[in-house]
Amino acid sequence: MIIDLRHISHEPRRFDFTFQPTWWQSEAVDDQIIGPDGPLTVRMTIHKEGTNYVVDGQLTGRFNVRCDRCLDPYALDLKPDFRLVLDVTSPDYGQGEYELLQEDLSVRFIDDLHLDVDDMVREQIYLSLPIKYLCGEDCAGLCPVCGRNLNQGTCSCERETGHPAFSKLKDLRLNED
Ligand SMILES: [Zn+2]
Ligand SMILES: [Zn+2]
Repeated sequence: MIIDLRHISHEPRRFDFTFQPTWWQSEAVDDQIIGPDGPLTVRMTIHKEGTNYVVDGQLTGRFNVRCDRCLDPYALDLKPDFRLVLDVTSPDYGQGEYELLQEDLSVRFIDDLHLDVDDMVREQIYLSLPIKYLCGEDCAGLCPVCGRNLNQGTCSCERETGHPAFSKLKDLRLNED
C-alpha cells in the first residue's frame, strides 16, 4: 500500500488499515519472530507541516514470537503509538547534522512523495518488540541434557547424573585456561 503524499495537506487525513496474518513475510534472519496472531490494525493520520509530512498512528494486534528460554511460541499484545516525520527534502546539509538526524528513529528521509505503508508498519512492529522474549517470568526453560520443556513437567536428568549443568560449566572453565 502506497500513499501519495501530494494529496496530503495541512489538514490531517485519516487512514485505517487492516493487515491479515498472511501479509507478514518472515525474515530468515530471526526465526524467533513468527508473525501476526490474527489481523493487525493501523489507524493513523497524516498532515503536512512546513515541507515535512507527519504521521501519527497506532498499531494494534497480537504477534507470535518464540520464548528465549523454552522456545515455545506465545503471543504478545502490541499497541504502540508512533509518530514519524517524513522529510522529503534531500539531506544536503553538514555531515554531522545528517548523522544526528539519522539516529533519530522518528525522522525518515524519503526520495519521492510516496509513503510505503507496508514498510512503515513492518518497521513499527520490529521497533515495538521487546529485546528479550519470555513466555512468562517464571518460564522454566529447557533441560540442558534432554531438551525437555520443563514447563510441561520435570525430567529425571538431575537425579540420574547429579548436576550436569554445573559439571559442564567446570569443564568449560578448565578448557579456557
Ligand atoms: Zn518460555
Ligand atoms: Zn532432562
